[in-house]
Amino acid sequence: MPLDPCYLDLLSTLAPQVDWDETKKERFSALYDRLLLTNEKMNVTAVTGKAGVVLKHFADSLSLLQFPSFASAAEGGALCDLGCGGGFPGIPLAVALPGAAITMIDSTEKKIRSVRENAAFLGLSGICAVCGRGEELARDGAPLRERFDVVVSRAVAPLPVLTELCLPFVKPGGMFIAMKGAKSEEETAASRRGAGQLGSEKPVIIPVRFPEADLSILPPEEREEAESYLSAERSLIVFRKTRSTPSVFPRSWAAMKKKPL
Ligand code: SAH
Repeated sequence: MPLDPCYLDLLSTLAPQVDWDETKKERFSALYDRLLLTNEKMNVTAVTGKAGVVLKHFADSLSLLQFPSFASAAEGGALCDLGCGGGFPGIPLAVALPGAAITMIDSTEKKIRSVRENAAFLGLSGICAVCGRGEELARDGAPLRERFDVVVSRAVAPLPVLTELCLPFVKPGGMFIAMKGAKSEEETAASRRGAGQLGSEKPVIIPVRFPEADLSILPPEEREEAESYLSAERSLIVFRKTRSTPSVFPRSWAAMKKKPL
């Protein structure tokens, strides 16, 4: 079932940074279809309504483009989506930025298989999907360690754990961006010391702010859901890496969780 034009119009209003054309709109519509199909086989998302998917998955993923340094680094650089699950934020970013090279990592084999299938179906040749645990793929001497200009991650772990998982993948001079919701000040403060140990500057919180959108174009039963998503607090927490990560990091998952930095 394709996405009706009103949803694609809403998405383009909420992500004005994207250079919209018919191919991108068709790809988002096809991605919606593929997500429903994937979800029939395995549960990759609890959100399946059109407005829900367009806002909470598509627009939310594209909110990274509100941060201009992300957009410029992602266009020509190497990007990683750690803990991508069913493909967020990486797949919408690959649609929006056709020139980007995006490595999608997840520890669940079936999720990586669905990302590969969906990327192939949509013709997104910039996506490379890798199955593995972040703490193993980024360990000292591993090929993906300090390989990326930008690492992004959404809904994977609390920030003090996530920094240890993600910052070892970032090249010195690059950045890690965590996509977070409410209470991000507390989490950010708790992650500050560890970020320094991992080679990053102090994190900076960038609030996500969508442009005003005309929600009357949506069916009435979906307006409330859309309003509540758009009024909820969201932020991007940016860690700029200036030094190499010491070889002892990342530690094992058990150690990270038990005693976050
Ligand atoms: N980013 C997606 C999925 C979030 S669910 C979204 O926002 O929709 C969290 C995902 O992180 C799961 O798919 C899980 O398999 C993955 N994950 C959790 N810990 C991980 C680790 N240590 N290494 C790699 N993937 C991990």
